[in-house]
Amino acid sequence: MKLRYFLLTLFLFLSMTPLLLFQAWPHSEVLEGELDEVHERHLLLARNLAAALERYYRDLVTTFDLLLDTPEAWSETKSMVRVLDNLSFRHVCIADWDTGKVTLTLASASAPCPDTIPETELDRLKALAVPGEVTFGPVVQTADGENVLHMVRPLEDGLAVGAVRTTYFRELGEAISFGVRGHAAIVDHTGKALSHPLPDWVAARKDMSGISAVQRMLARQTGVETFYSPALKGDMIAGFTFVHPVGWGVMIPQPIAELQQKADIARRSGVIVLAIGVASALALALLVSLRVVRPIEQISRASSRIAGGEFGLPDLQGSSRLLPVEFNELSRRFREMVLRLRENLSTINALAYQDLVTGLGNRTYLHQQLDNAIGAGQSGALMLIDLDGFKAVNDVHGHDVGDKVLEVVGKRLCEVFGVERLSDIDPEETGQISPDAFRNCLVTRLGGDEFAIWIPSEKVNRIEEFAGLIVDRLKEPVVLDGAQTRIGASVGFACFPEHATDRSNLMKAADLAMYDAKKAGKDRFVMYSPALRTAIQQERTLTAEILNGLEKGQFLPYFQPQFRLPDQTVSGVEALVRWEHPDRGLLSPHDFLDTAKDLNLLGEIDAMMLERSVGLLKGLGEQGINVPALAVNLSEERLTSPEFPDALKLVRDLPFELRFELVETIALDNLDAHVAGVLDQIRAAGCLLDLDDFGMANASVMGLMNIEPSHIKIDRNLVSGIEAGNTFERLVRSIIDMGHSLNIPVIAEGADTLEQVERLATMQCDFAQGFALAKPMQVDDLAVFLKAGAQTERTA
Ligand code: C2E
Ligand code: CA
Ligand code: CA
Repeated sequence: MKLRYFLLTLFLFLSMTPLLLFQAWPHSEVLEGELDEVHERHLLLARNLAAALERYYRDLVTTFDLLLDTPEAWSETKSMVRVLDNLSFRHVCIADWDTGKVTLTLASASAPCPDTIPETELDRLKALAVPGEVTFGPVVQTADGENVLHMVRPLEDGLAVGAVRTTYFRELGEAISFGVRGHAAIVDHTGKALSHPLPDWVAARKDMSGISAVQRMLARQTGVETFYSPALKGDMIAGFTFVHPVGWGVMIPQPIAELQQKADIARRSGVIVLAIGVASALALALLVSLRVVRPIEQISRASSRIAGGEFGLPDLQGSSRLLPVEFNELSRRFREMVLRLRENLSTINALAYQDLVTGLGNRTYLHQQLDNAIGAGQSGALMLIDLDGFKAVNDVHGHDVGDKVLEVVGKRLCEVFGVERLSDIDPEETGQISPDAFRNCLVTRLGGDEFAIWIPSEKVNRIEEFAGLIVDRLKEPVVLDGAQTRIGASVGFACFPEHATDRSNLMKAADLAMYDAKKAGKDRFVMYSPALRTAIQQERTLTAEILNGLEKGQFLPYFQPQFRLPDQTVSGVEALVRWEHPDRGLLSPHDFLDTAKDLNLLGEIDAMMLERSVGLLKGLGEQGINVPALAVNLSEERLTSPEFPDALKLVRDLPFELRFELVETIALDNLDAHVAGVLDQIRAAGCLLDLDDFGMANASVMGLMNIEPSHIKIDRNLVSGIEAGNTFERLVRSIIDMGHSLNIPVIAEGADTLEQVERLATMQCDFAQGFALAKPMQVDDLAVFLKAGAQTERTA
């Protein structure tokens, strides 16, 4: 729900609540209130009216008495006539008690006294009379049709009779009118109408004593009564009282429906006021919610833009006095936050895309830029560089120096391509891809000692020049804190789109080329070619086959005999690994050993070779064919493997001498404690150590003295090169001499020709091994060879 609708609903709800409550408020309460008010108001009116009538009554009585007591003084004077008129007297007369004959006319205000009061009338009046008092009769009609009230007082010889018109009652009653049909009604002490809104009733002196309120008045009560009014045909409520002492009744009735109406009107106007209130509250709410919500909506829109990666400054409305301070503050803070976020973003970009060691772009950066370049249809080349010898720098000088070397490499690479490091570029630009981002070469570090460079199409024609420069520049020694380190570089590159059609394959192609450069002997560069891929695929196949072959026992030892010089008797055999490949026939170490070494399978091969060749030679021994000695090759991997010492325990007490040939490339100069320990264990097991391939790798006398070998094997490349008086011959001779001076017998391997064997014998070489004497052979052939040799010996 949108905030503005939410606020609107809220306001609406708040303003509707009182209205609904009001509607729910029982309607009757209004009426009740009205009725309560009637009690007071109507009763008060009735009382006032009664008071006025009481005064009137007293005036009538006083005036009547006064006339009777001093008739001479008033007799028909003007002022008396006026007084009587004001009091609505018709006439005042004195009649004879018995005959009814009028004896004296005291006053004839508007009508003369009759000559004689008719007998029935006289009886009625006489019945009213109370000695010494003035009493009133009910309203009656005179002969000429006027309604009057008679007042009488008995005298000594007659009856004083006053007739009073009902004018005053009518006027008094008519003066009271309120509401629509609120009025006054006055009755005489018998309940006949003196004043009433219906003129007929007044004229006809309607007997109202049937009405409950009237009955209560006549019973001289005061109060409020509801009743049905036949005159007004409806329920009425009336305040009523009576006039003391004469007993006339006064009541102030009003239709209840009118009160109801009034209550309705009051309620309705309440509703209207509320509705107006709600409407204006709504309008106000709308205004407020729009004003209040706008900044929030702006901030929300800006936030979603930011979430979408758009970091433009938000277009927020400026601070306004009409807004709460909190909102202005919020807008201001939000702007600040976006600014800060932008700043942070550049820093994060820098961190996310930068390699912290070299300040170059990192792998992520390269991927991103490559994807963009390829996406934009740019062509170019990707160059991968792997440092040679960097591991040694780390091992020897520590990681701090290693990091510094990497930094120097980064700088040199940037120099070669004439570009800046990413860390030297304004961080704001990092992460944004400008259209011409690919005009320049891009130098990045992938991690470890691997670097990658994107070379745009404009510069691809110079790629070999660049590669050559890189190899040369990285060969230059790096001098740090006085220490000098040397590294090299193997460089491979591949072109887009010629060699690959996407980033991942381009990286793979460049990687294959680099791998090839490394294999080809470092400090080289190689361009990717499809043939390379085939070669590498073959290597992959080979890998799988080696693993499979090892599992299936396709690897086995061949034995090449070694001979004592000069008599050429067999002194022992060297076990050499062969692979009986199911498709490609018999393979020699040259075909698979490098790959096996890369797969770290050399140790496993050596273990198998030791076990199988020992087994085979034991087998020969059981056939009565005795081999004086067995030499097995011992790789560094095997030498350092934790299982090797255990294997040594199994080769004690063999019927022949067991010798391990150590390749000279094992770091013999600086024997670490573990290797030295293993060598001791070999000797302790009664085995011998031969130093293999002597004269080829970094030969050192120290190494020789360190391991004190039982034999020195001169490398076959030296031996096979021997010719009369040449360097090889001199070299071989001096090695033999050195061996003898250290009391170490010397084996020459790779003697191709019998002539070479002769020369070796002349040079006092102790043993010889070579095709001229015997080739490596299967165990069965070895058995035949040894038997034949034994026969020759016997026959010789
Ligand atoms: P290596 O230990 O120096 O073995 C001697 C190599 O010289 C053998 O080659 C052998 O066939 C060859 N050879 C002997 N006489 C002559 C000769 O008159 N002329 C020529 N041209 N070559 C001769 P192979 O069997 O191909 O072995 C090559 C290398 O493979 C070995 O050199 C050794 O370093 C390695 N190797 C062979 N078998 C094993 C093994 O079981 N374990 C380990 N770790 N390495 C082995
Ligand atoms: Ca060997
Ligand atoms: Ca050798």
